Amino acid sequence: MDKYSEERTQSWRVELRNSMKPKERMKIPRAKMPELLPEYRCHTMKEEVNLGLTPQMAMTEAKRCLDCAKPTCIEGCPVNIDIPTFIKNIERGNFLEAAKTLKKSSMLPAVCGRVCPQEKQCEAQCIYLKTNKEAIAIGYLERFAADYERESGNMSIPEKAPANHIKVAVVGSGPASLSFAGDMAKMGYEVVVFEALHEIGGVLKYGIPEFRLPNYVVDVEVQNLKTLGVQFVTNCIVGKTLTLKDLEDEGYKGLFIGSGAGLPRFMNIKGENLVGVMSANEYLTRVNLMDAADPEAETPIFRGKKVAVIGGGNTAIDAVRTARRLGAEKAMIIYRRTEQEMPARIEEVKHAKEEGIEFMMLRNPKEYIGDEKGRVIQMLLQVMKLGEVDDSGRQTPVPVIGETELIDVDEVIISIGVSPNPLIPQSVKGLEVTKRGKLVVNNETMQATIPNIFAGGDIVRGSATVILAMGDGRRAAKGMDRWLKNQQ
Ligand code: FAD
Ligand code: SF4
Repeated sequence: MDKYSEERTQSWRVELRNSMKPKERMKIPRAKMPELLPEYRCHTMKEEVNLGLTPQMAMTEAKRCLDCAKPTCIEGCPVNIDIPTFIKNIERGNFLEAAKTLKKSSMLPAVCGRVCPQEKQCEAQCIYLKTNKEAIAIGYLERFAADYERESGNMSIPEKAPANHIKVAVVGSGPASLSFAGDMAKMGYEVVVFEALHEIGGVLKYGIPEFRLPNYVVDVEVQNLKTLGVQFVTNCIVGKTLTLKDLEDEGYKGLFIGSGAGLPRFMNIKGENLVGVMSANEYLTRVNLMDAADPEAETPIFRGKKVAVIGGGNTAIDAVRTARRLGAEKAMIIYRRTEQEMPARIEEVKHAKEEGIEFMMLRNPKEYIGDEKGRVIQMLLQVMKLGEVDDSGRQTPVPVIGETELIDVDEVIISIGVSPNPLIPQSVKGLEVTKRGKLVVNNETMQATIPNIFAGGDIVRGSATVILAMGDGRRAAKGMDRWLKNQQ
């Protein structure tokens, strides 16, 4: 009997399964997410585009799930949420129980329900796809259950082991650190999180805009951690304000590094230093964290009218949709491959198109051109075509010799990737890093090359996803707990 069978054989579950034939279930069309209208949402920064399913819609969608004997969707989820169990709880109207099931595997279901690339993970494994039908809307249902629990005021706080008085420190407060901190607190550790910025949440706060992930959703999850006893220290750069050695001297027995990958990459082409050319990190951080969209702010942001964003990932799409909301009449994505190869979530690409974003595919910047004051006014694009398949399994983009295009721009946002933050690896002797600056860890325990240091998330993977970062945090908590117990 596998670990999911026990739930599946409960009488309510068997009754529910028998209450409707699979054929009937399969006739139900997939739920459509209610959304703000594109013409309205283009002018609002903080209102979320997706409005969430109603209880009735969620229960109907849950009926579509066949409660498969071998639920392949679970394998597709990086933290192995018991997907059929939470969905069947929604079908019977027990939404709080559904949220409890989610929380057994994920500290941040309301976040993951919104931003996970479900179409490449759990939903990609749903049996419906084998019959050419749309997968169960697992992400929508996850969001529904988590939102329902939060809005009902009945948030379940996980059980906590008695305090063991062992102090552990966490560097950074992104999803890797939050899930690590939650698991360690549940095991009875005294956990303190040190964050360089003045806000808690990492990319969830300074990267992903509120029209996709409202801040209050993150804040509630952080509050839950506080209730569990996790302490947060903001405006503290570990490696500068405090060193790892200082933390050890203060009695921290284990250190988790979740400092992310916030170092933007550039193409090093002519004109990249012109005024009006900047990284997506700078652009989004200024808007999301420093309120730079407000003209009254201390450092308001320039509001471009013809904005080009270079790249095809989630960050690029967030930046271009932000530029549109800040008044860009022409907001463009410039990507060197085709839409099929774009790493961004499909839903974000769809939303961007509805909002009037232009997609210029098979184009790559060659040079930025400025006016006499050093401000960008044009960009020269190289036309590309797809060549041989590369290591990533995608066709390599190659230039079409002699074919270029000149377009007018007044702002360029570069989003072609990020590297791990180098401060910690550089400031600690003996901490091994790869050529690309990622911390080297044991993949099972997440232990780094210094035994009391564990790490996870983008500092280990380069830029990845929220759920992978959270999965790392959980593995690191298990690994550190085992290691600390062996030290006693
Ligand atoms: P981060 O979230 O980067 O957090 C690291 C934290 O550490 C930061 O708060 C930083 O200030 C702090 N820090 C760094 N150095 C120090 C130090 N020395 N001392 C103290 N604190 C420090 N993923 C998805 O799954 N879906 C999406 O839709 C999605 N959209 C994205 C959109 C944008 C704009 C960006 C930038 C990323 C997106 N991602 C998305 C990727 C995802 O957000 C990251 O993979 C994830 O946040 C990584 O988590 P982390 O905990 O490793 O680090
Ligand atoms: Fe339900 Fe699809 Fe998972 Fe089967 S694979 S249990 S139908 S979500």
